[in-house]
Amino acid sequence: MKSNRLKFNSICVQEWEHQTKNEPHILPIYNTSAFVFETINDSIDIFKGNKDGYVYSRYGNPTLATVSEKLAALENIDLEEKAYALLTSSGMGAITTALLSNLEEGSKVITHGDLYGGTTELLQKVMTKYGISVFLTDFQNEDEISALIEKEQIDLMYIESPSNPLLKCIDLEMVSNMAKNNEVITVIDNTFASPYLQRPLNYGFDVVVYSTTKYLNGMGNALGGAMICKSQKMFDNMWNTLKLTGAYASPNDAWLMYNGMKTFPLRMDAHCSNALKMAQYLEQHRKVKKVNYPGLESHASHKIAKKQMSQFGGMLSFEIEGNVDTALKFMNSLNMVTMAPTLGNVDTLLLHPATSSHLKVDKEQREKVGITDGLMRLSVGIEDIDDLIKDIEQALEK
Ligand SMILES: *Cc1c(COP(=O)(O)O)cnc(C)c1O
Repeated sequence: MKSNRLKFNSICVQEWEHQTKNEPHILPIYNTSAFVFETINDSIDIFKGNKDGYVYSRYGNPTLATVSEKLAALENIDLEEKAYALLTSSGMGAITTALLSNLEEGSKVITHGDLYGGTTELLQKVMTKYGISVFLTDFQNEDEISALIEKEQIDLMYIESPSNPLLKCIDLEMVSNMAKNNEVITVIDNTFASPYLQRPLNYGFDVVVYSTTKYLNGMGNALGGAMICKSQKMFDNMWNTLKLTGAYASPNDAWLMYNGMKTFPLRMDAHCSNALKMAQYLEQHRKVKKVNYPGLESHASHKIAKKQMSQFGGMLSFEIEGNVDTALKFMNSLNMVTMAPTLGNVDTLLLHPATSSHLKVDKEQREKVGITDGLMRLSVGIEDIDDLIKDIEQALEK
């Protein structure tokens, strides 16, 4: 209890008595770096782990704890076992922490060429500095992966499905079974599908990572990431690393995601329905060379997507006829579709991978996997689909 008899300056500086009488309906944002101890004995017990309690927000914060429990509950909805989730400052924070926790000097990783650009850079430019080797395969051929695992003694497989920006899907059951037979750790970036459409823990994946900046938040107003796993040992390992890397989420950003999660399934249904209609529209347009959308029967991954996703997502990419100038002219003619280097927001966003997300990825390497100069990635929003198609139509005409 603070005394009202303090001097003016002290009243200003001191934390005042909290007026909480009963539980608030909505989760509060605990903007505090540390927590107080009633007595020194309490402090000792909490530090020793003999008593539950918070110490310092990098080691745990009540806002983050609630949000991560909710995310874990979504991820293991089909499972008997508990899932554990940890929130990070960004998707890259989750990917970096998950990799650092599960790799060591000499570790060998297999992944594919069409990953999120930042992840490719992290693996090839940062991780390799610490004695970690990275091998590429397209994960479409079982024999090829199996040969690579045996030849190189692989420790970890890192995939994205659907991939960015070509929406190629990888058979999760096949990869997970192969990993289990060879004691390989499996990590998947499930950002594009989101836990509403695809839950990789069901197939035996060890770690699922997200950029919650995208569909889980949905409003484009905060950065965030998450790492989710089923094994307590894996969780302890990742949490101990996270405490030290400091990539812990901000309670404000986590709270914004928590808010976004309340409309998450409704948004996803609208994203999926609009994206399918947009893909079908683009596919029949004479100026469009190719449409990559797993929901189209013409897409190479349609069968796999159908097997492991409940719907086909809100992301697609397409190539228009013509050269780079044609592509730039098309983009500059759009009125409603916004050019922004993010995805999964309620509004429709267009990105030109060659000049943005994949700018720093070697040109030869990106073209080899199909990220050409004319490729455009569309994050289809939840606006009225007729308005969206009209906007794309008039830009294509120009
Ligand atoms: C955006 C994104 C990331 C990186 O997430 P940040 O929150 O920007 O750090 C990683 N993977 C995928 C698939 C993404 O779309």
